[in-house]
Amino acid sequence: MKLLIYFLLCFPGKPVMSKTIDSLTPLEISKIIEELKITKFPLELADKNIKISIQTMPRRFRKNTFFQVRPKMNVSLLKPSTKRHYQIEINPALYTNNPGREAIRSILMHELQHVVDFTNKDFFELASFAYKYERNKAFRFQYERETDLHALKRGAGVGLANYRLWLYEQIKKEKDLEEKKRMYMTPEEIYIYLSVIENVRCKNIFIEN
Ligand SMILES: [Zn+2]
Repeated sequence: MKLLIYFLLCFPGKPVMSKTIDSLTPLEISKIIEELKITKFPLELADKNIKISIQTMPRRFRKNTFFQVRPKMNVSLLKPSTKRHYQIEINPALYTNNPGREAIRSILMHELQHVVDFTNKDFFELASFAYKYERNKAFRFQYERETDLHALKRGAGVGLANYRLWLYEQIKKEKDLEEKKRMYMTPEEIYIYLSVIENVRCKNIFIEN
């Protein structure tokens, strides 16, 4: 009986792909970001009132990339890190083909985690980071995977796995797909992480009872 209750309470379940949001707009994405700042990043982003805007991603970055974030390249870059202006760039292809609300929320948590990280760097640290990120693939892969892990710790959950499943479907070349799988946590790795966390939580429930 105890085992049955354990499975009922603790089986993490398989992710289900959510439907495309037909009416996705930049305003909709801004609203999700504002909600996430308050619910998932209250101390790091909401309390400090950090400015984050939505921009259309330049064409040269759009191949297999749907979201990216960077500090705005203006005088705010020289201001204290919490006074900088950050921009999340969106590939406009998302407005007609996207992985659904939960997946978008989860990948935006990944992007906001980058903002938190940038706010912990001064101008020179940020410049050095950007140089290393561009030049050193191993560093880039490790950094992106750590960012996924932080997003999962904040509750990104199966939405992040669903985002990656959808992303893989958008990539035409096998070589590009393999690179994405190395650079970010795969759905399988995310499910394993979620199962382990869920099992620890359930063990604690049984120990408490
Ligand atoms: Zn990232």
